[in-house]
Amino acid sequence: IASGSLRTKEALEQNLAEMGIGEQWRIIGTGCMGPCFGGPVLMVEDIVYEHVRPEDTAQLVREHFLQGKIVERLTHRRPDGRHVARMEEIDFFKRQVKIVLRNCGEIDPTRIEDYIERDGYQALAKVLQHRNPDEVIETLRQSGLRGRGGAGFPTWRKWDAARRQADPIKYVVCNADEGDPGAFMDRSVLEGDPHSVIEGIAIAAATIGASRGFVYVRAEYPLAVERLQIAIAQAREAGLLGKNILGLGFDFDIEIRMGSGAFVCGEETALLTSIEGNRGEPRPRPPFPVEKGLWDHPTVLNNVETLANIPVIVLRGGEWYAQWGTPKSRGTKVFALAGGIKHAGLVEVPIGMPLGDLIYDIGGGTASGKPFKAAQIGGPSGGCVPRQHLNVPLDYESLAELGAIMGSGGLIVMDDDSCMVDVARYFLEFVQDESCGKCVPCRVGTKRMLEIMERICNGQGQEDDVERLIELGEMVKETSLCGLGQTASNPVLSTIRHFGAEYVEHIRDKH
Ligand code: SF4
Repeated sequence: IASGSLRTKEALEQNLAEMGIGEQWRIIGTGCMGPCFGGPVLMVEDIVYEHVRPEDTAQLVREHFLQGKIVERLTHRRPDGRHVARMEEIDFFKRQVKIVLRNCGEIDPTRIEDYIERDGYQALAKVLQHRNPDEVIETLRQSGLRGRGGAGFPTWRKWDAARRQADPIKYVVCNADEGDPGAFMDRSVLEGDPHSVIEGIAIAAATIGASRGFVYVRAEYPLAVERLQIAIAQAREAGLLGKNILGLGFDFDIEIRMGSGAFVCGEETALLTSIEGNRGEPRPRPPFPVEKGLWDHPTVLNNVETLANIPVIVLRGGEWYAQWGTPKSRGTKVFALAGGIKHAGLVEVPIGMPLGDLIYDIGGGTASGKPFKAAQIGGPSGGCVPRQHLNVPLDYESLAELGAIMGSGGLIVMDDDSCMVDVARYFLEFVQDESCGKCVPCRVGTKRMLEIMERICNGQGQEDDVERLIELGEMVKETSLCGLGQTASNPVLSTIRHFGAEYVEHIRDKH
């Protein structure tokens, strides 16, 4: 939409109508196809046109839609590079495996019929017909699916623990409070394929025995909220939510709760507190939400990407899903490629793909053509991976060894011009601003760290500032109450670890 695709769509429809073939073609406004760098993207069957502007559409209708010719050169096109290719020829798509994004960019997300045509809600029907929660949990165990929100906890364990609770009241909550700068994975799934998330939530509910579910979504995502509202209404009308779903004796419904812009509400206990109507502050664990979650009842909380995986895994089996990934981290992961990368956009790749393959084979390298310097993975909670570790497999364990985390999948690329001290200061400022203030180490510790970072960046750093940052950073990490504080110092600590010389240079040269 930002690249002008709605205007292009309107012009295309107008041209088709003027040339008398408006009835013969169905123009679908889809969600994100992934290649943000090429927008507006028009896909005619398997031919992909990039940067299609409204003034290009008359030529496209004349030559492609009427005469069946692939338009190699758009008249209004800037004279740089190719703008048309078959999907399978495009490097950006070649090595992707789309499971979560299977429908994004392919279907009209405002039509439940489109989702149903692609096997939508069959997994839910299967689960309700079999009424065998053990079977679902075993399938998830075989699949090796781990939570995609950041921590990577095995999904089956969470569901199993909630199912075993004796409490008759249980809840399922979808965490769609994606707040990392540079991350847009969950937003794209909600905008492009909301029914897959709804189906995943309903399957979780049927498995653990919940009758009420919530989607906690950022208010800053109005299109995602709108698409979700439409999808929930359609699912209710089709008998897929509400009383006696599909006539199979299961009652379950979903409500949307909008966040008010607090980053900390992405932390699960803060999110639950916010749904309960209170100020979104984290609470100590244990008890864990699977034991005492919403209003003290057992609650399964999964993020958007995790839930969107569920229907396919249930339909195709755990072993099918486990064919991708590494022995400890199965399946695929969605990444949002942003920053100084040539092909910025949304991608889904098998877990374990080397970082360099993602950045060069799919992302096309740096946008400036200058050498790659580092990638910040996992947003403000994550860390940076420098050039010498370009072959690191993108999985939970390997990234943790380097002081980074997989996180929810935000990946910001930096070239040689980037100052890593500045990058760390930016992320620290973000978390300092977002600290809820409930506990001292995070509230005060990040503030003191930020003061040190600012004086270093202003050319007033002191000789022992790096040691002070390490000491404070470790303390904040060890003693903070929630994930925000426990990971707040990661960007500083990981840039000191990999780019310590830049800190020293700033302090010595006073720049
Ligand atoms: Fe709040 Fe930070 Fe403490 Fe988390 S670690 S509870 S965000 S002050």
